[in-house]
Amino acid sequence: MLKLETIDAGYGATTILHDVSLDVNAGEVVTIVGANGAGKTTTLRTIAGLIRPTSGRILFEGRDITRLSAHETVDLGITLIPEGRQLFPEMTVHENLLMGAYRSAAREKQADTLEEVLTLFPRVRERLDQNAASLSGGEQQMVAIARGMMARPKLLMFDEPSLGLAPIIVAQVFAVIDTIVKTGATVLIVEQNVFHTLKAADRGYVLENGEIVLTDSGKALLANDHVRQAYLGI
Ligand code: ATP
Repeated sequence: MLKLETIDAGYGATTILHDVSLDVNAGEVVTIVGANGAGKTTTLRTIAGLIRPTSGRILFEGRDITRLSAHETVDLGITLIPEGRQLFPEMTVHENLLMGAYRSAAREKQADTLEEVLTLFPRVRERLDQNAASLSGGEQQMVAIARGMMARPKLLMFDEPSLGLAPIIVAQVFAVIDTIVKTGATVLIVEQNVFHTLKAADRGYVLENGEIVLTDSGKALLANDHVRQAYLGI
């Protein structure tokens, strides 16, 4: 579904990603793990069209999307749920959710999608009229995920969904991601919570200093000595 071929990307004259190649197949959960500053967010932003690669190619469903803008990638069905949620704080939950449905294919089905999404997130339904700023961190993350789903994406990318959340809420976030996968979506997830993500993922890539140094099944990476020492503290 998604293929990165030897991508170099960065900010201005600074190259952050070096020769990054990765694949995400339809229906898979794939994760990119790595330390702070390894380039995980940069990878997702590059796929989403927010950063233009300086070399390499990105293919989505066989089509070259390397030079597409962020709104064009959204139109194709790629949605990024950014780190830190980035809700509109003064808008209600309901208004925030509708902002997610701007993709043309999603706009037509907005009412149906909203109902489907609220069925998945009963807590969000209870808070539809509340301002986003008044929600707890965990609730904000649920709204951010729900808003991402309003675009009816084919590929849903999560940037650090568990950041700053209490362990019990982290478990809920991963349970929701599991449910989303069961609806047929494809998921690419970036996390520092390596244990949870590798458990949830079919496959994973380890990114260090902007380079992919290791790839394997989630299960094999959990058992890998380097991963255990560097990321799991075992
Ligand atoms: P974290 O988990 O801390 O978010 P990350 O793996 O997602 O880490 P990135 O956010 O992709 O890492 O950052 C990779 C490198 O790019 C870092 O050295 C960072 O300082 C740099 N960087 C990020 N954003 C910018 C920017 N807008 N301009 C210049 N450099 C940036």
